[in-house]
Order: sequence, then C-alpha cells, then structure tokens
Amino acid sequence: MELFAPRGTNDILPDAVGGWQYLERIVRETCERYGYREIRLPLFEHTEVFARGVGETTDIVEKEMYTFQDRSGRSLTLRPEGTAQVVRAFIEHKLYGKALPFKVYYIGPMFRYERPQKGRYRQFHQFGVEALGSASPLLDVEMIALPISLYRAAGLHEFEVHINSIGCHVCRPAYREKLTAYLSERREALCPTCLERLERNPLRVLDCKNPGCREATEGAPKSHEHLCTECHDHFSTVRAGLDAVGIRYVLNPRLVRGLDYYSRTVFELIGLDLGAQDALGGGGRYDGLVEQCGGPPTPAVGFAVGMERLLLSLEARDALRSDGRAPQVYVAALGDAARSRALEIALAMRQAGLRTELDYEDRSLKAQMRTAQRSGAQYVVILGDDELAAGRAAVRKMATGEQSEVPLTGIVQWLEGRVNG
Ligand code: AMP
Repeated sequence: MELFAPRGTNDILPDAVGGWQYLERIVRETCERYGYREIRLPLFEHTEVFARGVGETTDIVEKEMYTFQDRSGRSLTLRPEGTAQVVRAFIEHKLYGKALPFKVYYIGPMFRYERPQKGRYRQFHQFGVEALGSASPLLDVEMIALPISLYRAAGLHEFEVHINSIGCHVCRPAYREKLTAYLSERREALCPTCLERLERNPLRVLDCKNPGCREATEGAPKSHEHLCTECHDHFSTVRAGLDAVGIRYVLNPRLVRGLDYYSRTVFELIGLDLGAQDALGGGGRYDGLVEQCGGPPTPAVGFAVGMERLLLSLEARDALRSDGRAPQVYVAALGDAARSRALEIALAMRQAGLRTELDYEDRSLKAQMRTAQRSGAQYVVILGDDELAAGRAAVRKMATGEQSEVPLTGIVQWLEGRVNG
C-alpha cells in the first residue's frame, strides 16, 4: 500500500523548516513590540463556535469546515480561522473583566475544505492578531500598521493595502437594501453563485471575480458612501490616521470580506507576486461579535495573515531567509578507543551549549570529513588513537583549513571561544 499525505496538506521537511522558524520569529518579535501577547487555543472547537461566530451564510461555514462527530456524538470542527475561538475564550474566561483592550496574537494551522491550488491548501497556517475592548480608530490604524511592519521586517515590500468601511448594524441594513435593489435589476448578468448571494449575503456579490458580475457591479452603491454619522466619522479618523503615519492605501469599495462578523473598517493586504490567490492577509472590526456570542458588548478589531503566502512571496523575490542553523562542531574519530571518546567529548560540548554532530557509523576519516563539510560545521575535531594517547585532538577550522593541536582537557573552552553563533 502506498501512503501519502492528504490532498491540500504539506509536509514541512527539515530543509524548509528554517524559513518557517525565521518567519515565526519575526511574527513573535513584531507582535511583542506592538504589545500583543501570544494565546494558544485548541485546534478543534464545538462546531457552534464557528457556525455562530463566523456566520451561517459564509463560504467557510457552508462548505469548507472539517466537521466530525467524536465518540460521544458531539459535533466538533477543526478550526477554520482564529477570531471566533479567541472570542469564545474571551467570554469563557471572563477576560472582559480584566484590563482592556485584551491584545493577543496566535500562530498555527487552520483547516478549510477548499480546492487546493498554489497558495490555497486544506491545512494552512495563519498568524493573527486580535484586540478586544476598544472602538478607537487608533487601534484600526495599528492593526493595519502591524502586518506592514512585519512584512517589511521579513523582507517583503511588494504589496498593496486596500481598505473599506462596511458600516454597522445602524447603517448597513439600509445600504444592503439599496445594493439588493441595484443588483436585482441586473440579475441576468450575475453568476449562479451571486444569484444565491443576492438573497443571503448581497455584499459578497461585490467581490465576485466573475467578469459578468464585476461589470454588473461597476456602478453599484458603495458602502463607504452610505455610512451613518458615527461610522463616517470613525472611518475618516482611520483614514486620517493612516495618512498621518504615512501608510498608503487604496480605498476599495469592493472589499467586503467573506466573514459575517465584520463591521466598519475592513482591510486586505494584496501580494503582487501571488497570481490568483493574491490575498496575503486581511481583517477588520468586529464590534458586534462578542455580544452575539453571549458576552458583553465589546468592540474589537483583528486580522490574519496566511503564512504560506508570505513564504511564497518571499521565495518569489529570493528574499526568504532561514533560522536553520548548521552544527558548530563536528567530531570525527578514527579507531575504537577514539570513537568511544568522541561521544563523550560531543556530549560535553553539547552540555556547554555547542551544536555538535558526530559520526555513528565507523566510517573512514575521508567520509567523515566530507559529511562535516556538507553539514556546514565550523570546526572539525579529529580524534585518532595517537592523539588520544597524547591527550590532544587536531581541530580544523573549515573556512580556512587551518589546523591546531588542542589539549582535550581544555577543548570545550577552546571551541567556545572561537565558534560563531
Ligand atoms: P481569511 O481568514 O479568509 O481572511 O484569510 C486570511 C488569510 O489567510 C488570507 O489572506 C490568506 O493569506 C490565508 N488563507 C486563507 N485561506 C487559505 C488557504 N486555504 N490556504 C492558504 N492560505 C489561506
């Protein structure tokens, strides 16, 4: 039987892990600089958390969730996104009673049953940030500034920032009605999916990629022109804030986001190297979600970034760096006595904090030197029976070929003083 990974999943093999570790480090450093702390939540939740939180009429809930019954008959779902579960935890642990805003970030796998293609997988990874408990437009600006500074730190400069405001429970119903009336007059031009959306989620018609739908919505009413006074003022302050901190953006009236919980500011970061799946990340306000999920009224804002797409973008620009680290020392041994001493010496080096590799297979010195070379080790400690008898080892600096005789008693300190990070 041939075994292989499920469609839409990726094995991240050791050679590729350094790139992930590099990005994860930048995520952590950036979030902490902005005052966000990490939160770690389960990979599955009661289905209800997403059905209610993400919204029954969204693509995610309608057709993309990995939902299963566990052995006691409960319906559980592998998390398709992070916001709904952060909200669940915020309510469950009564975090609204503590210092607000509650500012957290997460990194981890998400699961969606989508048609896999480049940049779109069934298990993918997101890093996301959420701030609960403040309606301040400053926080919206910060939420847009954070991923931008993260991309720059990672080495990515080729992206656009798109923003929009989709209003709130006060102004959206009227806008929705206006939009529905406009779209109803153009039914013949809409694709079958959009005809369904027309009834259930008309805003989504605006971001349909179908050319017919795009043409039909060219002159559609724009949500940011139909805001109530509060939403209008809020959005103006967000825009002024973006201008003040020098963030250039595109005001995109088609940007509505696929999740029901959004209100007011929504934004997306669009990669320029990604082809069809060009959304690097996105987010927005979700002022009504905590209350809708059973908590006290709590304005909130957040975003999520796809890690694979960030990696792909960096690779496309040859800008992906790696935190993967080669051994600092390789211990090569020749002869029985030397080999058993080699392990002892390697363990002492590791204990002292040196990344140390050695040969396990009793191979020729030449073969061991070749492996050491390939491993990228900075120094090779060469132990033969003669050296051992004299209580010394030969140490070769690989970069220069320069060789030194070092007493075994002081070899760990000798290397500690010479290896690089
Ligand atoms: P969303 O929660 O749908 O707004 O997604 C946020 C970000 O996650 C997107 O902008 C993508 O970068 C990434 N993303 C969403 N779905 C997938 C997927 N199926 N495969 C890879 N990345 C994804």
